[in-house]
Amino acid sequence: MAALLLASFIAATPLQDNEANANSNSLSAEFNRKAVARSYAMACDERDYLRDANIKEPSQRSTPKYFKKKLSDIALYSPLLKPEEKEAAERLMESIPDYARDLFYTQGGVFIFTAQALAEALPDYSDYRKKDGSLPYQNTYVGLYIYSEKRAYLTFYTGVLDKNGQVIGYEVMDGNKPRIFHHEIGHFLDDVLGEVGAPFFEFGAKRFTDRDSFKDSLKADMDALVDDNKSFTVKDFERRSYFLPETHKEKPLYGKRKGYLDTRKEVFAELWAETQGRGVYNLYKYFPRTYKLMQDMDKELQQLYSKNTKSCDLPTVVPVP
Ligand SMILES: [Zn+2]
Repeated sequence: MAALLLASFIAATPLQDNEANANSNSLSAEFNRKAVARSYAMACDERDYLRDANIKEPSQRSTPKYFKKKLSDIALYSPLLKPEEKEAAERLMESIPDYARDLFYTQGGVFIFTAQALAEALPDYSDYRKKDGSLPYQNTYVGLYIYSEKRAYLTFYTGVLDKNGQVIGYEVMDGNKPRIFHHEIGHFLDDVLGEVGAPFFEFGAKRFTDRDSFKDSLKADMDALVDDNKSFTVKDFERRSYFLPETHKEKPLYGKRKGYLDTRKEVFAELWAETQGRGVYNLYKYFPRTYKLMQDMDKELQQLYSKNTKSCDLPTVVPVP
């Protein structure tokens, strides 16, 4: 029954939605606003049903039981978090704008807060070194979004490793939690805005950032960065290397990515965090066209939400087991 409901949700969205919208509005080629509006307009019990159908199992078998339960709640907290840390995590969940929380709920999103590195929830292979010799992400990364799970992760402590990469303890994660949190929610939005109402043959295959107008605006921003960059220094670029390609049009941009298309998911996630006032990199100065696209998207989703929502009480909190 749950699967049926999901199927009808997809099938109820005619292909023309995308095409018709593309002509009338520059944004609509990237997401199906009719399908998103329909999602916001669902009755409360209907959306519970849809969520139940959309929740994925965690991909790792050794994930502890308390991170594994198939729950209708959108956040899971490590029982090892101190009460004030759990409260801080709950405040982060409350800071998700309503339109995004609604999609997070219906599309099966789960946010996991850990206390012993991401490995606490993702223990498989956490003692392996990658081929390039870098440290295993489970103990050193501070945030993560796994597309196949629709699960986002944030840790309050990272692993302290010995020279063999073995964990010998944990230290307080010193990153900016609100930034990382919203960045991971950004990845989720990229994911689901590509999926909601997508034609069946591309369901799950295309994200917001896979659509042409996002790629075109990102390319135009990159072109401008190498063609008429007057104000940025090499140091400015190096600080943002996570979001930049090594080169663009054969000119250096001092980044870590292979090309401008390889940057698109990270740029989207970070720019979304900036639209929520949570950024620290000021990427909007580097990608003004793409940022404008993100602002328009943010505004349009807010409008779609407030016009269509049935204002169901969506849970933000789950008691520690
Ligand atoms: Zn990211």
